[in-house]
Amino acid sequence: MSWPVRQPHHQRPHDPGRLDIECRQPKRFGRKKLGVFWFCRKWSPDSLSITSSDVQMINLIMNKPRDADYNILCLGAHSDDIEIGCGGTILEMLARHKNVAVSWCVFSSNTLREREARSSAELLLEGACQRDIIIRDFRDGYFPFEGSQIKDEFEKIKQRCDPDLIFTHYRNDRHQDHRLISDLTWNTFRNHLILEYEIPKYDGDIGSPNLFMPLNEATCLKKIRCIIDKFTSQSGKQWFDEQTFSAMLRLRGMEANSPTMFAEAFYCRKLVIDV
Ligand SMILES: [Zn+2]
Repeated sequence: MSWPVRQPHHQRPHDPGRLDIECRQPKRFGRKKLGVFWFCRKWSPDSLSITSSDVQMINLIMNKPRDADYNILCLGAHSDDIEIGCGGTILEMLARHKNVAVSWCVFSSNTLREREARSSAELLLEGACQRDIIIRDFRDGYFPFEGSQIKDEFEKIKQRCDPDLIFTHYRNDRHQDHRLISDLTWNTFRNHLILEYEIPKYDGDIGSPNLFMPLNEATCLKKIRCIIDKFTSQSGKQWFDEQTFSAMLRLRGMEANSPTMFAEAFYCRKLVIDV
């Protein structure tokens, strides 16, 4: 985590590209504990989470009103990555906020997988005030060798949206396509809040995320049903089943001390706090 030097608040130009987050402290904690908890390994963004008197973690809240406009950019190498990585969080945000515009970009597909990806995105984004679904057909597994064309695609995406919040792959993901998308996300969006999601896989690269989004059971079920029902071309894969996805949600829910028992988890590499 880095702590960029910032100008005093009154000297800062308006920056629509940056989404500041407030730190909300449980009433029971004294002010002096704030510093300790800011350096805690876990954060739980309150506007994205379920409040409970049992939760003692300091929460971070988006400093925009509930009816403010949000622009979210979701980036995924393959057709089902975004749903697996952050589908629940997207559903929860759309349920709680009225004016969420979502740009949704999948970089690899074929005819069948594009149809699946589009159908899934349309279902998941029903609550969005605006949807921009982009499906490209870069070659699965070969992203590092098609890097310049994919970088060009990122430049086009940058022209299409100005996101408050970006979801992308985990930087240390062992899949080469995932890693490239993550790297280009950070290359392209230099002054944005970026959350990196995780994808379970054979490679065994599940790590220790540091930001958690508690999800209620209904949201988890909707996410899992969407993945299983929409991406039928993947059903033959040994890992592609309800147990894998629910196990991830339960495991992260346990780590987050989620009052609902379930959570999605992210890596937040850089977070600027405005107190
Ligand atoms: Zn993938």
